[in-house]
Formats: sequence, C-alpha cells, structure tokens
Amino acid sequence: MSDVLAGAARIDGFSGEQLRPGDAGYDEARILWNGLFDRHPALIARCISTDDVVAAVNYGRENGLEIAVRSGGHSAAGHSGVDDGLVIDLSQMKRIDIDPDAQTCVAQPGLTWGEFDGATQIHGLAVTGGRFSTTGIAGLLLGSGSGWLERKCGLTADNLISAQVVTADGRVLRASKDENPDLFWGIRGGSGNFGIATEFEIGLHKVGPMIYGGLLGCAPDRATEILTFMREYMATAPEDLGIGVAFVSAPPEPFVPEEMHFAPIVGIVVCWTGSKEEGEKVLAPIREVAQPGVDMVGEMPYVALQSMLDGGGPYGIRGYMKAELLQEMSDDAIAELVSQGGQRPGPMVQLLLEPLGGAIGDMGEDDTALGRRDASWCYHALSLWMDPSEEVAEAHVAWAKNLTQAMKPYARDGVYLNFTSDDDEDRVRASYGPKYERLQALKDKYDPENLFHLNSNIKPSS
Ligand SMILES: Cc1cc2nc3c(=O)[nH]c(=O)nc-3n(C[C@H](O)[C@H](O)[C@H](O)COP(=O)(O)OP(=O)(O)OC[C@H]3O[C@@H](n4cnc5c(N)ncnc54)[C@H](O)[C@@H]3O)c2cc1C
Repeated sequence: MSDVLAGAARIDGFSGEQLRPGDAGYDEARILWNGLFDRHPALIARCISTDDVVAAVNYGRENGLEIAVRSGGHSAAGHSGVDDGLVIDLSQMKRIDIDPDAQTCVAQPGLTWGEFDGATQIHGLAVTGGRFSTTGIAGLLLGSGSGWLERKCGLTADNLISAQVVTADGRVLRASKDENPDLFWGIRGGSGNFGIATEFEIGLHKVGPMIYGGLLGCAPDRATEILTFMREYMATAPEDLGIGVAFVSAPPEPFVPEEMHFAPIVGIVVCWTGSKEEGEKVLAPIREVAQPGVDMVGEMPYVALQSMLDGGGPYGIRGYMKAELLQEMSDDAIAELVSQGGQRPGPMVQLLLEPLGGAIGDMGEDDTALGRRDASWCYHALSLWMDPSEEVAEAHVAWAKNLTQAMKPYARDGVYLNFTSDDDEDRVRASYGPKYERLQALKDKYDPENLFHLNSNIKPSS
C-alpha cells in the first residue's frame, strides 16, 4: 500500500466522503454487483462534484495509486474495484435535469437505469437502457448500451449529445461533435479509457409511460420453432418491437403455475412501444408459434418492464458472462443454442438471444468506436450463481466457455466488451477490429500513462 494512504492522508479540496478500511460505510461502499470480486481498496473517494473527481484523479496520479472508476458497480469483469488502490466512486452523483420540449437531459454518472427511467418517464421520455434497473447509466452508455429500445432508439451511446470528461492530467473537457470531436468519437464505445465522464447530455425519445409488453413463458420443446420463426419475423418487424428470447428457469412467483416453478422454460420478453391494438396484432403470430403456457404480455408501465428481470440478478450474486454478435441465425446456430440452453448448469443461468437491426444501423459504421452494426442477432450467456463453492463456480464458468466455443463458427470476430467477463488484450483488439489503431492514438493523446487501465483496456502505443 502507498505510504500516502497508509498514513491516512486526505485528498485536499475533496468535498465528498473518503472511506478507508475500518470506516463506517466502507464495507457497503466497496461491494460490487459481481460477488466474485471481493476487493479491498485502500481509499474509496465518493465524489459529489466534478471538482471532487479532478482532485481524486490528481491525487491518484501524483501518488502512483492504481485507480478504479465506479458508477453503478455492475462491471461483469469486476473492473470497478481494486485491492489496495483508489476507487473513484461516482455513485453519489445522481442529478438529472430534463428538458421535455427539447427531449434531452443532462444526467450525472451515479444514476442507475431505474433512477434514470423513473425521472424521464414522468415526461413520457426514455432512451435505450439496461435490462436490469440496478445497472449504472455511465458504464453501460460508454461501453455501448443495449436494451429493449435499441431497435427503435439505437444503442445508448448513439444518443449521447455531449459529455463532460475529466482526463488523466486533471483537465475538464467537453466532448461533442463540435468540441474535442476525437474524444467524442472514442468515448462512444471506448468506455473509460480516455477519462472519467462526470456529466452526459443525452437525446430522449417518446416512449410510454405505458407500453405493451411483458413475458411469454413457453415449453422448452418450442425453442427451435420459436427461434426459426423469430429469425424471419424480426428481419422485417417494426422498430417499435423489442424482443428477447431467453433460456431460463421459471421463477417461483404466483403468476407462474406451481408445477412450472424452477422448471426450464423459453421466455420471450416483449417491449412494444406502439399502441396496444397494434401490439396485439404484431404479437399474434408470435403467440401462435410460441404457444405460451404463461402469458403475461399486456399493457404495463415501461418502468415495470425495465425492472422485471431484477430478481434474477441481485447485487452480490456471482457471475461470469460471455456474449457474441452473430452474423446470421442459421439453422445450425439455432440447433447449437437450443442444445446449450438445455444444458444450463443452474437455475439462475440465463441464455438471452436478442434480434438486433432497426435503428442500430442508423449510425454509420465509423461514426463511433462501435462497429458491426449489421449484426443480426446477439447472444448473452449470463452464468449466474449464489453458491460460493469452487465446484459450482467451475461448472458455471465451463458452461459459458463451452457455449462460446461451440458458437464460434456463427459468431462475428468481436463483441461490445461490456457484455463479457473476459476482455484481455487480444479480445479488446479483436472487438474494436480496424478501429483499434485510432483508439490507441486517442489513448496516446488523452491517457499516455494508462492511468485508466482497469477497464477493457486500450493500451497506449509505447
Ligand atoms: C446483470 C447484468 C446485466 C447487464 N445488462 C446489460 C444490458 O441490458 N445492456 C447493456 O448494454 N449492458 C448490460 N450489462 C453490462 C453493463 O453495461 C456493464 O457492466 C457496465 O459497465 C455497467 O455500468 P456501471 O456504471 O454499472 O459499471 P461500473 O462497474 O461502475 O463501471 C464499469 C466500468 O465502466 C467504466 N466507467 C464507469 N463509469 C464511468 C465514468 N463515469 N466515466 C468513465 N468510465 C466509467 C469504467 O471503466 C469501469 O471500470 C449488464 C451487466 C450485468 C452484470
């Protein structure tokens, strides 16, 4: 541990809380969503302003501390915690100002999607947000941003108008298409590599407050028919339709017949943002093919849909995540996914398949750091478990790795890195593909010492 921290020095000019081991609140503040990562930082600097962030960045850099940046704490890879280092914690910065006429907002990075959606839905506005309401807006937006609205509104990052960013040398910059446009390009997909975002200006869309959505619970033996049908149907479906097909276990909830509790099902999550009448028509062919045993699709608040899956991924659960973009959902790919979905190693494991397309392709391939906008489907393997034993962990990790291996012939050569627990150098390079060199040049310009390296790291060239 650094002498400075061992001596319990304080960050000068810092207004928020500074938590060290033994302080009241330290243990709560260091907990990450992924219980696999039990990090013990030497100092957690809970920022309440951009000035605090500047002071913390300068303090960390000048004292040679390893720095982790934390907003919502949902990093699958545990990047937002660090042993014996400095956590720059933005979770207390939760202001949001909404301009309903302009359909924009200015939001701070400590907001979760539940908080963000709650505020914007008062005005009947939304942007593509995470599927778990406890996820932070910052890490999700900077890394890409996928959600039920992506076919209608594009990726979350596509809706960024500007951001305030604290760079490694402690400068406060604005990034937009007119100011520091290179930085603006890079933070839309390059995540936390170039600085700490302390404010986001985001474009919003008219959505809700009521939508037509929910969950269809179907027998697993319908899986092949459902996916084969969805492949065709979603290729031309209206952008108002967001869908996910998931291999999951039925929750022991009152709305699920008792004989189905914990049983494997194929769940279809539906988010239709048009009228109920149109939604019923659009859903009719899906209902016919899926033959759901449980039909919970109806009019519901958008915010209710956005928190519907929360119970399946509580804070502190253990998780290992893999994901890939698929070029096409071929018959063989479907057969493999159905087989893998049937081998889930535990009841909390989810294999989620999402049709992409729609507004994701409105942004040009080179407009942001995020490419592969023509991918047709994506799979997310969320291998989640509670049991702390090593055998259980091994089985869960092995399932996700085997699945990825088996799906290799159908996958693109990279993925948006937020979705995966494995983001070593090769994976990062492959995922950015031809954009890696441009990102590396940005890293050289904004963070040549790689101060911000606890992330899907883009290494400086020297
Ligand atoms: C259960 C679960 C469900 C998920 N569902 C979705 C989903 O539906 N859609 C989707 O797109 N993604 C999803 N993700 C992935 C999610 O987007 C990433 O984990 C994201 O990083 C979480 O954001 P956060 O602010 O909570 O992250 P944190 O853990 O706080 O931060 C993760 C990393 O993001 C960077 N970062 C965070 N805040 C800042 C900042 N203010 N400035 C600069 N860099 C910053 C840092 O590099 C940090 O290490 C999910 C993850 C999990 C675990």
